[in-house]
Amino acid sequence: MSVAENLRQTRSTLPPGVTLVAVSKFHPVEALREAYDAGQRIFGESREQELTAKRKALPDDVEWHFIGHLQTNKVKYIAPFVTLIQSVDSRRLLDEIDRQGAKNGRIIDCLLEVHIAAEESKSGFSAEEAAGLMLETYAAGGWPNVRIRGLMGMATNTDDETQIRREFRTLAALFRQIASEMPADGTGKAAAWDILSFGMSDDYGIAIEEGSNMVRIGTHIFGEREYPAPQAPMTT
Ligand SMILES: *Cc1c(COP(=O)(O)O)cnc(C)c1O
Repeated sequence: MSVAENLRQTRSTLPPGVTLVAVSKFHPVEALREAYDAGQRIFGESREQELTAKRKALPDDVEWHFIGHLQTNKVKYIAPFVTLIQSVDSRRLLDEIDRQGAKNGRIIDCLLEVHIAAEESKSGFSAEEAAGLMLETYAAGGWPNVRIRGLMGMATNTDDETQIRREFRTLAALFRQIASEMPADGTGKAAAWDILSFGMSDDYGIAIEEGSNMVRIGTHIFGEREYPAPQAPMTT
């Protein structure tokens, strides 16, 4: 199937109100162009250099979401244009996004990445850290050039649907808890708490059932990625 057909098929399974982020990492510009021509405008990338290169090759009305681990020294390259940084995983990163937002005269939309999976390898805040950050620092006016719109998470890579569902449920509950405890701050920032990003190619059906309103889908649209050569397995 072509990218355009995959995209149409994927869209047909999404209820209204669920935003589709086409995860185009590791795929060539031609694939993105095909998706663009089929009407897709939101793309997710996980590496700064790849994102900035692809941006130059595609029309200006594309919305770019950053979804990978973001090093603080790379923030400045995407700060002028990025639509949403979904993968904020440290206070230090928020400090830098805030600084670059100020420099560029814009308020940068972000999501907090929360670690819900059993795997150690996945990054993100704990639920307690995310709640503390929002209800204390952010609610008190922290990071004025950042607007935190919600949460992002990734479930464990497993076939166990019950476990995936449980992890998604934890994230959705945290989202509601923060929403109900956020004080109104007069800046409208508390009102902009509206994005719950979870669900990828293999689990987005469950994700939508559990309340996701933003799914990040790569493989189902673009096919398998060609990863850089993996590192030799660790021997202990
Ligand atoms: C790669 C990636 C995706 C997309 O994964 P697929 O299984 O290809 O749909 C979604 N979210 C994040 C954070 C990713 O890194």
